[in-house]
This record gives sequence, structure tokens and C-alpha cells, in this order.
Amino acid sequence: MILLDPKNHNRPYPDDRSREVMLKAIEFFEGKGKAALKRDDREQVWYGDFLEFARKEKLFATTLTPAGYGAPDSRWDTWRNCEFAEILAFYGLAYWYTWQVSVLGLGPIWMSENEEVKARAARLLEQGGIFAFGLSERGHGADVYSTDMELIPQPEGGFVARGEKYYIGNGNKAALVSTFGKIKGTDDYVFFVVDSQNEHYECKRNVVNSQSYVSNFALHDYPISEADILSRGREAWNSALNTVNVGKFNLGWASIGISTHALYEAVHHAANRRLYGQNVTDFPHVKQLFSDAYARLVAMKLVALRAADYMRSASATDRRYLLYNPVVKMKVTTQGEDVINHLWDVIAAKGFERDMYFEMAARDIRALPKLEGTVHVNIALIVKFMPNYFFNPEDQPEIVRRDDPADDTFLFHQGAARGLGDIRFHDYETTYAGFSQPNVEVFRGQVAVFKKMLEAAPPGEGQANDVDFLLAVGELFTLVVYGQLLLENARIYDLAEDLIDQIFDVFVRDFSHYALQLHGKASSTDIQMEHCLQMIAKPIGDADRYTRVWQDHVLPLRDAYSMNP
Ligand SMILES: Cc1cc2nc3c(=O)[nH]c(=O)nc-3n(C[C@H](O)[C@H](O)[C@H](O)COP(=O)(O)OP(=O)(O)OC[C@H]3O[C@@H](n4cnc5c(N)ncnc54)[C@H](O)[C@@H]3O)c2cc1C
Repeated sequence: MILLDPKNHNRPYPDDRSREVMLKAIEFFEGKGKAALKRDDREQVWYGDFLEFARKEKLFATTLTPAGYGAPDSRWDTWRNCEFAEILAFYGLAYWYTWQVSVLGLGPIWMSENEEVKARAARLLEQGGIFAFGLSERGHGADVYSTDMELIPQPEGGFVARGEKYYIGNGNKAALVSTFGKIKGTDDYVFFVVDSQNEHYECKRNVVNSQSYVSNFALHDYPISEADILSRGREAWNSALNTVNVGKFNLGWASIGISTHALYEAVHHAANRRLYGQNVTDFPHVKQLFSDAYARLVAMKLVALRAADYMRSASATDRRYLLYNPVVKMKVTTQGEDVINHLWDVIAAKGFERDMYFEMAARDIRALPKLEGTVHVNIALIVKFMPNYFFNPEDQPEIVRRDDPADDTFLFHQGAARGLGDIRFHDYETTYAGFSQPNVEVFRGQVAVFKKMLEAAPPGEGQANDVDFLLAVGELFTLVVYGQLLLENARIYDLAEDLIDQIFDVFVRDFSHYALQLHGKASSTDIQMEHCLQMIAKPIGDADRYTRVWQDHVLPLRDAYSMNP
């Protein structure tokens, strides 16, 4: 069973503590029950009960303290963090978010050379503290170069911090807020820590309408000493970007958790509802929508798991994760939106009901593509890898499944995110060639035409500066990488042949859709348009395979899981 099933949670773990963390989290939410979960969401109750439980059980301390700074079983283990993120979001995005912004807040700390602050952070984690990442500002959005937060040098030494931050999760309660700004009178960036309970720290308000607290805070001449400074100049800049690199990966896991819970609810509802003397799941279009949703969700999970293997195996000489990570961020989260759209088309009015998890899912799934770099920002990043990916493959170490209990220390020593266009990849065609399902073959044909188009008519000078055009190219490229990661894990997880074919049935249709979009771009040339039309293909239908996927994989979800009331 690839999907999370909290009531039959028997995923293998290399150690008892990892299993305990997951089972404890599940126990908390199932003990709380759906009615209380929904009430707290509706009434926007601060999740103090969850944080108190997490403190008592040291859930954040175990998952967020790198090896050597905390208890012997604490480590930064991307494998178990993926799973923990999935479980939290399965029960509610707000619970995931308070952990997620702690991940972000801790990023510049663990990346710093300030051992004193690291020891402090580890102590605070042990005591149940949460953390915040103060990067964004109201006026600047993605343009973090333009920060207005200032550290002002003082004649007697040290600094005072002055300025505001906006959209900062946990800013009401964080034990430490990693704050990004500039040293006044210089162009030097700086990261420093502040305490949200200090008298010079004003938590002004929650800027969103949610159970999560996403603050606007101000620092009023907050005294900062050298001991509070995490990094300066290039280092500070790199740790801002590298923290987002680590953090944004988890957004895919939030989408997976949300989509999985919503799928259980939706199939349960439809399979047990009778209209015109038949079950709703007997309608052909309902079968198709559920089959597509299931195929997309299985792919989301296998791709994200595979990308995690590369994150955990990353090094200064193997930086393939820098492509796979934004692919998860951008593609898994937008696929989550597709899953919810499919499900909602089936369950219709039921999706609005106040007692359904689904109603939260339909709202929250939208957030994940937009935060920590929008879809546009991530595709703009992804296309930088395209020339080497297609035209310059080289032999690379084969990465195995990484569920070992390692501490992923490289993530805090990533260095400058430069030279992305120089990163080399193993040959995607070798991966694809290992599979012979009919729809994998069709997809390979589409990709071959895309590659031919890039050779025959690469984006011209005007097009290369036209982000709108590049985004359309980027969607096609992303799907090739996505398919490669999926297939690598299909092998590792021994995915059923039928399911592989069903997933590529979806991918063939999606590729055709993106090809048509590129065809329609104002600046696409005749030769590009000609190739786009050749990329449009029809999946190979197989009624027996489709029926088997439905009966063996999708329909059995109907009574597989429901949350305790
Ligand atoms: C609920 C929530 C929680 C958040 N939590 C935090 C937090 O804890 N800490 C924190 O620091 N921030 C946080 N944020 C801020 C979030 O990361 C920003 O919203 C995000 O970085 C994008 O900024 P923006 O939404 O202001 O969009 P803008 O930057 O205003 O972007 C506007 C448009 O321009 C496009 N664009 C911008 N730059 C580029 C580019 N280089 N290439 C192509 N297109 C581009 C974008 O895609 C978008 O369509 C949070 C936001 C929300 C809503």
C-alpha cells in the first residue's frame, strides 16, 4: 500500500523512535477526533493542544535537531521528515504549517557557524519551542533583495534592529525568529535571531484568516549583539536561499497528505451513495475521475519519495537534487490541486459540508503551489537545467532508496546555489527504456518530438526572455523529469504494471495538453508549432487494465479509512 493509511500504519523504519514519532502523531489526531479538528479549524483556535502534545512527546526535538545537538535519536532525517509532514497535513494544514515554519526558522540557525545559537535552539526544541522564518516583507514579495529590515550599528558596539516583516508563520509564539535584513549603510545582508516575547518585538496581527498564525511583526530598536548574529553577507544570502531549498520540498508532502485524506473521504462517500438504483461509483465518468485522481496521487508520492533519495544523497559533486526539488515543489503541489478538482467534481455538494475534512482540503490545497516560490519562480528555475538534462547526460552514481537512519548534514552545508546550468544528469532515456508499458512507449515518443523541437527550433532570443513562453516549455520539461523519477521508484517499490500504464495514460494526456498550450503561445514559430502538433498523442486504451486498476486499487479504498469521530 503506497498511500498513507494511519489506522494500519506499518511502514518500515530503521529504528523504534521513528516509528514511535509517527504513531504518536497519529494517536494525537485520532484521539482528538474529526469533530474537534473541524471545530478548531472553523473557530480558528490556536493549536496549543497539539503543541503541548508535541512538547511532551518531543516530536519537534526528534525531527528537527541535527545529530550531535540533541538526544541520541534526534537527527535531520529527510525520510522520516517527509512522512511526519505527510501525517500532519493528512489531519490539517495548520498542524503541518507550525512544524514547517519551524523547519524554515531553524534553517539559517543550523546553517550558521554560531554554535551558541545552535545550542540554544536545541535546548529550546527540547523544551517544546517553535520557530519562525522572517524573510518576507509586505512590499517586496519574492524580491528579497529589497529588504527594508535594518541592523543599525551602535556607537558602544552591537546593533539595534528596526523594521517589519510580513507573512511570518509562528511570529506570535516563536522561541526564535530567524530574521533577514541588511546592515545599515552597507549592502551586507544579515541573518539574526530575535525572541517573539521580547519587549522590543511587536506582534502586530495575524494577516491571514486561518487557524495558523501568519504574523506581521515589527522590531522596535531591538538590541542585537554579535551572539545573536547567524550569518552575514554572501553567507546570509545563501542561507536564505538554501533554507527555502530545504523547506519548499515539504510543500509536496503537505499536498500528498491532504490529497490522501480527501481521497478516502470522497471514495467512501461516492461508493456508498445510491442514485437511480446504482452506486455513484458505477458512473463511467466517476470511475475515470477517481482513477485519474488515484494515478496522480500515487505518482505524487513516488516522485516525492524518489526526490528525497537524491536530497539525502546530495553532495558538493552531486547536485541533481537542485532540479528534482523544485520539480516536487511545483509539480506535486499542482497535481494535488488536480486531485482535489477531480474528487470535488464527483462529490459535489458533499465537498462543502462543514463536517467533512474535504472542505478544508479544497481550501488548503490551493496554498501549496503559491508559497515558498510560486509555480512561475520554480519553473523559471527548472528550465535552467534543461540543456544539460537533454543534451549532456553523463554517468552518475546510482542512488538507492534512502530510508537509512542518516543525518542529512549536507543540507546545512549546500554552499552557493551557483552554476545551476552546469549540473549534469544521468541519461533519462536509459530509465525510460527499462519500461515497455504501452503508454510509457507513447510518452517516450512525445518526449522524443519535444527534444527534436529543442534541437531544431530552440527558444529564440525574444522567447528566452519571455517568461510566459518559457513557462509553457517548462511544463513539458517538468513532466519528463517527473516521469523519470516516477519510473525510478516504480522499480524500487515494485509498482504494479497496470498502475504504471495507467499513470502514463494520464501523463500522455497531460503532455498533449501542454503541447497545445505551447502551440497557442503568441510567439511560437511555425516549426515549433509543427512539433507541438506532433507531440499531441492519444493514450492506448486497455479496458481490462483499466478495470483491474479500478477493482484492485481504487474501489478498495471505499471503506479503507475514516477518521475517528
Ligand atoms: C499563508 C502564508 C504563509 C507564509 N509564511 C511565510 C513565512 O513563514 N516566512 C516568510 O518569510 N514568508 C512567508 N510567506 C510569504 C510567501 O513565501 C510569499 O507569499 C511568496 O514568497 C511570494 O511572494 P508574494 O506572494 O508576495 O508574490 P510576489 O512576489 O508579489 O509575486 C507576484 C507575481 O510575480 C511572479 N514572480 C515574482 N518573482 C518572479 C520570478 N523571479 N520569476 C517569475 N515570476 C516571478 C510571481 O510568480 C507572482 O505571480 C507566507 C505567505 C502566506 C500567504
